This record gives sequence, C-alpha cells and structure tokens, in this order.
Amino acid sequence: MAQIMLRGVTKAWGSFIGVDAVDLEIRDREFMVFLGPSGCGKTTTMRMIAGLEEPTAGEIQINGALMNDVDARDRDVAMVFQSYALYPNMSIYENIRFPLRMREIPRAEHDALVRRAAAMVELGDYLDRKPRALSGGQRQRAALARAIVRHPQVFLMDEPLSNLDAKLRLTMRAQLKHIQRELEITTIYVTHDQIEAMTLADRVAVMNKGKIQQLGTPDEIYNNPNHLFVAGFIGSPAMNLIPGAIADGTFIGPDTRAHIPGIQSRQGVVLGIRPEDMDVAAPEGANLISKIYSVEPTGDQTLVTTWAGEQLVVAKVDRAFRQALDTPIAFKFRPDRVFLFDEASGARI
Ligand code: ATP
Repeated sequence: MAQIMLRGVTKAWGSFIGVDAVDLEIRDREFMVFLGPSGCGKTTTMRMIAGLEEPTAGEIQINGALMNDVDARDRDVAMVFQSYALYPNMSIYENIRFPLRMREIPRAEHDALVRRAAAMVELGDYLDRKPRALSGGQRQRAALARAIVRHPQVFLMDEPLSNLDAKLRLTMRAQLKHIQRELEITTIYVTHDQIEAMTLADRVAVMNKGKIQQLGTPDEIYNNPNHLFVAGFIGSPAMNLIPGAIADGTFIGPDTRAHIPGIQSRQGVVLGIRPEDMDVAAPEGANLISKIYSVEPTGDQTLVTTWAGEQLVVAKVDRAFRQALDTPIAFKFRPDRVFLFDEASGARI
C-alpha cells in the first residue's frame, strides 16, 4: 500500500526553476504517468520522489510520512531507467538477486524470489546468461525483474522502453501494464511519448515548464484538454489549431467558419479540431473550404492535408478516399468536438 503526496514541491538551480510548486496526490496502486516535452521537469520530479534529488521547497510524503529527510535507500522505491544498468559481469540470476542481498533478505528466500520475478517477465530460461548475451528487450525485462524482486512499495520508471525498437515497445508496454496490475504496486512512469502515456496510465499528469498543466485520465486529457498546450501535445496527428476571432456567434479564421452557439465576440481565439472529427462534406454549410495539399493512405485510414490560410490542417478520412492534389475539398467539424482557446493565455474558453 503506497500513497504519495507532493505539496509545493519545487526544484531550483540558482534562478532557474526546473520544477515549480507541484501539488499532486498519487493514489495507492495507481499507474501515474508524467508526460511532457523534454525539459519540462518530469525526471526531476521523479528523482525527488526517489530521494536522488533534494527539493528546494515543498513536502514529499509516502503514506503520510514525510520523506524529505529520508535516505533514498530507505524509501522502499525501485527504479527502472532507460539504460538498463545491469552488471555486465554478473549473470541475469545474480543481477535480479542483487537488491535482495543489498536489503539483507534471508538467503533461503532468494532463490524463490528471483525465479518468481524472472518468470513474471518470462526470463526463466535465461538466468545463467550474462547481460551481453541477451537482446535489448530481454535486458530491459531483466532490469524490470530486478525492480520487481523485492516487491517495493513504489515503482519509478524513467522512459524504460525508449531504447527498444517500435515492435518490442508495444509488447513490453502491454507486459508492463499487466505486471503492474498483477503486483498492485503504485507506479510513476515518466515519458514524452503520448501513446505510451495514454495506454499505460490510470491518470496522466501533463507537464509543461515545471508545472502540471493538466491531471486526468487519458480520456479526460484527450477529450477535454484544459489548455492549448495539452490540446496540441496529445493526439497523433496532433489537434489542428486554427487562429481567428469570434464575431456574431461565429468563429472566423482562414478558410474557416464555425457557428458556436451562445458565444461572445472576441479577438485572439484558437479553434481546435482533431483530425478524426473532420468529415468531408459539401461546400454549403461546411466549416473549412479549401483544396487538397496531400493525400496519405496509412492502410486503415487516409490522412488528407489541406490549407487553412497559410497553415496546414490534417483530417483523418475513410481509407478508400483518393483525390488529386489541389482538388477543392470541404469539411464539416463535429460540433461537440470543437474546442476554443484564448490565444494569449492558452486557457480553454
Ligand atoms: P527529458 O525528457 O529531456 O528527460 P525532463 O522533463 O525529464 O526532460 P528534467 O530532466 O526534469 O526534464 O529537467 C528539467 C529542467 O531542469 C531542464 O530544463 C533541465 O535542463 C534542468 N536541470 C536538470 N538538472 C539540472 C541541474 N543539475 N542543474 C541545472 N539545471 C538542471
């Protein structure tokens, strides 16, 4: 059982603030993902929870106990990094066993614990090998087994899959989620990969410039972004963001018009619409009237890129869609999927 609480947690180096007064409660058994671009403070926040970095201000609690002055070794957390950090001269068995020796767990229990952890990551047949005789995915699983072996209160994982090829990442992702559910260990996972975040997380903390911009379930983050930054960061291809203004209850932007019921006139507005929420339509009453810039079949769908003024907008359309470049095209936006943001502050309108 482990619940983690951050209150006003800050990390500054001189005048540079890497993590800025973060408040966050991570629930017992939760899979929490810190997501954000490079340099947003994800790793530093996690390292402070691990005890590898000292906060400049704020409190970190695990199960209500203040951790600020507790040594990393005494926090009962296990970390997995992108570099597997296995000992090259030890067998996989000895690598997995290492934390047990460090923790003075009775020798008689080691063998069963090592074999159980290895079985969980399907490395039971590789225990005699040295790390160099394993593939990248197997090494990453060995690192995972080393974290699992002593059943810590908390897993901290920093981009653990980023050195694996795309296919292996998919397999390992599913395996990781399965293992976390099975062990019921509170987990914090750092990534800049939004697909990884969406698929793994119970909740995602989307970070930007040292702050949590939005905290929510993957569905909430995707379907109800509270800020331009979150809207633009989540989704592949990303949400289309079209600048414009509201006049007479209508958003007007380059090649774009959309009636927004009950809205006041204002300048400096950004309309957000996801590629899958744009339907090819007749020009009458359409929201975007333009011409085709490119058509990209991906197999299960087709991406159509068109101009909105001088910017490109992407729509996901039927996989059978084929048209020549420069053909006129019009789209309707699904009205309940149109988002509006204040251009200056990024806040949702
Ligand atoms: P990435 O995805 O690239 O790892 P991140 O979101 O994990 O990024 P952090 O490693 O937490 O980012 O770093 C946050 C900010 O703090 C960055 O701008 C980084 O340059 C800065 N930073 C990190 N460590 C130090 C340090 N020891 N001294 C000064 N600045 C630092």
